[in-house]
Amino acid sequence: MSSPRFAFFQGKIVPIEQAKVSVMTHALNYGTAVFGGMRAYWNADKAELYLFRPIDHFVRLKQSAELLLMDVPYTPEQLRAILVDLLRHEEYHQDTYIRPLAYKSHEGIGVRLHDLESDLTIFAIPFGSYLENEEGLKLGTSTWRRVDDTAIPVRGKISGAYANSALIKTEVMMNGHDEALVLNHDGHVSEASAANLFMLRGGKVITPPVYANILEGIVRRSLFTLITEQLGMEIVEREIDRSELYVADEVFLCGTGVQIAAVSYVDHRPVGTGKMGEFVRSLRQLFFDVVRGKVPQYTEWLYPVYAREAISAD
Ligand code: PMP
Repeated sequence: MSSPRFAFFQGKIVPIEQAKVSVMTHALNYGTAVFGGMRAYWNADKAELYLFRPIDHFVRLKQSAELLLMDVPYTPEQLRAILVDLLRHEEYHQDTYIRPLAYKSHEGIGVRLHDLESDLTIFAIPFGSYLENEEGLKLGTSTWRRVDDTAIPVRGKISGAYANSALIKTEVMMNGHDEALVLNHDGHVSEASAANLFMLRGGKVITPPVYANILEGIVRRSLFTLITEQLGMEIVEREIDRSELYVADEVFLCGTGVQIAAVSYVDHRPVGTGKMGEFVRSLRQLFFDVVRGKVPQYTEWLYPVYAREAISAD
């Protein structure tokens, strides 16, 4: 993974070496930051880099910030313009991962949310696959449970809550799995360590509802559209038992990092044939065509980095 050359930091684009914070920073001490994870896809034929749903990502970033009483003093359109400017500085001609981070920049001791200043930074790195086995992940159930909305709101991407994801991910990887199945306190399926989960069972596409302590994923939302409009199937949002995954026809994960990843095993049991199923194969094909700008119907989800004039962020 190569490092970026620039960052947006304290209101302007600076060389990455200058984007530094103090050890006294509130967010570093208490996890009081919120972040986003977005991708830009390179289309070699058009020599264009497409941001995937940047406005939706920035709307969610601002909502996450509100949960922590933090104001991000830019509109989603202004944030997109800043990002386009940053990416043009980087001149990436390859798939890219973008990390916006809003954080309590106050330097001092005292755990709270109110009366603290905050700041926003964005950096972007060239990035291919997040998981190596996107075509056949082995999932293991974590003994840790998903953070509950009564403890930390999980519909926002709050940095502190990701200690939960980190405990989960490391536990299952040390036990030899690729990714985690994460349960709620009531034992129902929530999601993976940093991705939403779907299963195909009895001809239905089923996924846990937004009140199952999931992150309200932007890829998840996009799949609702693609599956109903292009693959002609309804989505059912309902609670899922862990053992239903053992007998499901297909299981897959989705998210900005994992994109669409087929699950081949859950707790050492093969899902279907133990190989990537037909449904997820078609969905992956469709998704990758969409994000690279090859399906005209969904180009409104994409924002070309090099073709347009950046909108002023003033
Ligand atoms: N759940 C969690 C906990 C995540 O961190 C992510 C990655 N942002 C997702 C789900 C997938 O969300 P999205 O499709 O918006 O990337």
